[in-house]
Parts: sequence; C-alpha cells; structure tokens
Amino acid sequence: MVKQAEIEHLAENGASGNGVADAVDVAVLIRAPVLVLNLNYVPVNVCTVRRAIVLVTKGKAEQLENHLGQLHTVSRVVDAPSVIRLAYMVKRPFLPRKLSKKEVFLRDKFTCQYCGKKAHDLTLDHVIPRRQHGAHTWENVVTACNRCNLRKAGRTPAEAKMRLGKTPRAPDPNPYLILQNRVILEDWEIYIPWSIRE
Ligand SMILES: [Zn+2]
Repeated sequence: MVKQAEIEHLAENGASGNGVADAVDVAVLIRAPVLVLNLNYVPVNVCTVRRAIVLVTKGKAEQLENHLGQLHTVSRVVDAPSVIRLAYMVKRPFLPRKLSKKEVFLRDKFTCQYCGKKAHDLTLDHVIPRRQHGAHTWENVVTACNRCNLRKAGRTPAEAKMRLGKTPRAPDPNPYLILQNRVILEDWEIYIPWSIRE
C-alpha cells in the first residue's frame, strides 16, 4: 500500500529500474501523462503518473501499460503507469458536437455532398436555403464545392435539379474528443481508434 505521504516523497527519492536509472528524471516522470480508460476501455481522461499511482493503489484502477523506469517510495518500488483502466464505469454526458464549418467538413470528409469531389474550395451549403427559412442545423447544412454552391444558388436541391449523396445528420457524439489537441503517447495508441489520430 502506497500512502499519499510516500508518493510525495517520490520526487526526492529518485527512480531506477529497467537499466535506465540515470535516464529517468523522477520529477518529470511523476508528472508524465497517463491515459485513463473507463471500465469499457473508452478513454475518459488524462491524468498524471502521481494521480494514477494513487488510483491503482486504492484499487480504483488497474495498470495496463507503464512508462519506462520505476519510482521508489519509502517502503517499495512502484511502476509509473502510462495507461490505467478504472475499476468502475464513469458516466459522462456526451455533448452534441458543436455545429461549425470545420465540424461539417469533418463529418462530410471534406467532400462535396452534391458532386462527390474532394475539393479545396469548400463552402457550407444550407440545403433548404436560409432565405426559404432553412434552419442552421446539422440536418440542413452540408459541404459543397464552390462550383456546386454557385450552381445551386439559393435554391432547394429539387429546384436546382441537384441531388445530395446522403441525408445529412448530426455526427455521433465522440468520446475521444478529450484527446483532441493532445500529444498521443505510443503506449496509448492501441486504445485509441485511428479515426481521431488522422
Ligand atoms: Zn460539388
């Protein structure tokens, strides 16, 4: 059992193990990021090694992967986790994704929803035009290339004799959003689908 007081000592007492004793900077290691997975292996958070050791020690999480090097407490040597999995299920409200130009392009995979081309001159198109009281919602906004947008010009697809490739919908709430704009450690990759690493 590692007590909080012992963990406080970690930074002063040094690290060793795996033949990298001198290479491991304990003060850095104790603050290194740890991927926290829910009971169902979906990422819920990123915490520090210090916090992860507390969770594992209290039986609230299990260690799945660890950083190189170990930490010495007063009474024993502990691993520095890099991925832990909670012993219980955390319920989080998944917020609907915010409607923005970038998110619509992402949903539509940067492809014009009328001609199917991947273009560089993408625009947002309101399927039912704003001037015909079309809503600014996921269901009424699609990605269109400049050419298709000009051709459609303030008309409905039926009026312009154009067809959508598929019906626009709100994207699924994405639990992996917490990892956006973060450095993804190599150890974490097998727990994270490719889709968010692109
Ligand atoms: Zn187009």
